[in-house]
Amino acid sequence: MTVGIVGAGQLGRMLALAGYPLGLDFLFLDPARDAPAGRVAPVLHGPFTDPKLLSRLARECEVLTFDWENISVDALRTHATSAHGARICPPIAALAAAQDRVAEKRLFERLGIPTTRWRAVGSRSQLERALRDVGVPGVLKTRRLGYDGKGQVRVRTPEDAHRGWEELGNVPLIYEEWVSFDCEVSVIGARSAGGATVIYPLNGNVHAQGILRLTRAPYGPPRWQRAAATHLRRCLSHFRYVGVLTIEFFVRNGRLIANEMAPRVHNSGHWTIEGCETSQFENHLRAILDLPLGTTRPRGFSAMVNLIGDVPPRAGLLAEDGLHLHDYGKQPRPGRKVGHCTVVEPTAARRDRRARGLLAELAPGLRIP
Ligand code: AMP
Repeated sequence: MTVGIVGAGQLGRMLALAGYPLGLDFLFLDPARDAPAGRVAPVLHGPFTDPKLLSRLARECEVLTFDWENISVDALRTHATSAHGARICPPIAALAAAQDRVAEKRLFERLGIPTTRWRAVGSRSQLERALRDVGVPGVLKTRRLGYDGKGQVRVRTPEDAHRGWEELGNVPLIYEEWVSFDCEVSVIGARSAGGATVIYPLNGNVHAQGILRLTRAPYGPPRWQRAAATHLRRCLSHFRYVGVLTIEFFVRNGRLIANEMAPRVHNSGHWTIEGCETSQFENHLRAILDLPLGTTRPRGFSAMVNLIGDVPPRAGLLAEDGLHLHDYGKQPRPGRKVGHCTVVEPTAARRDRRARGLLAELAPGLRIP
């Protein structure tokens, strides 16, 4: 049975690595000749919108999925489904909502999920109105194609907002309040076609310059977990979702405020490979192939640290007791996620001590509570 994956990045690669023990095969589509999943599975090389390649992927695979959300909804719908009737999971409607920050905010509001105050900005006059309605501080973001903090400008004064408008160019924007959060968390869950749902323990995330650096899980008090799970379940049933879905939240005064969602496996769930009975990658595959979902029981208290820019010498990392290294095989580049490592400890206190030690080595200057 072959799973087709649009995008052959590290998420796709980890999907394939989770699927091989289940007897699955994989076929990817990606323009990059050196895409990380290309080391472990065949790749059709070409643009994500290529009609012939999308049709071929649909023809040769039982089900299609994707490993990042900035792919063309129209191309996927037209060339992958209509010609060959291939199933695409997660649903395209969820992909479309996640691609547009305004659609995403509207969805959260419709489903009663608290989110930041926001206004759509398509002109100078709308920017003025947004500043009046939402106030400063805030952040201007491109509605589409933003990731890892790209396409965002912090706004401390109205002048910053006007500079941001120039800087981000003539594209639709969103202006939202800046949340002085106590911490950031994310929740990941999977739903299969029959409606069976599993939710992972909550992730506590630390970002720097918009890039995720550290995830600890399980994290936070049970009421955060309950609130996050309720919000996630609402989204899952709204879309009759199939696959893994992630929502990221700010936590302020004990209240969860949704920031964004990702209709896919997520960086904050990498710890589940070693830290959970069933990883997010395996559960995504189980869900889209309509197999029973696996338990999300944690195996301890995990910390995952992203390797940004380049992978430090392997021997040094592997000398750390119980450290699991994942090197994506990417070319080093400042700000690029090139790997991650995970440790699993029997208590939260020990996990936090390990996390501090790892950060001191891998991200000096980053402090965690
Ligand atoms: P995003 O691309 O929206 O996930 O933003 C990346 C990171 O920037 C978030 O995880 C936060 O750390 C920070 N950030 C984005 N939007 C806000 C906001 N409205 N208030 C405070 N921090 C934010």
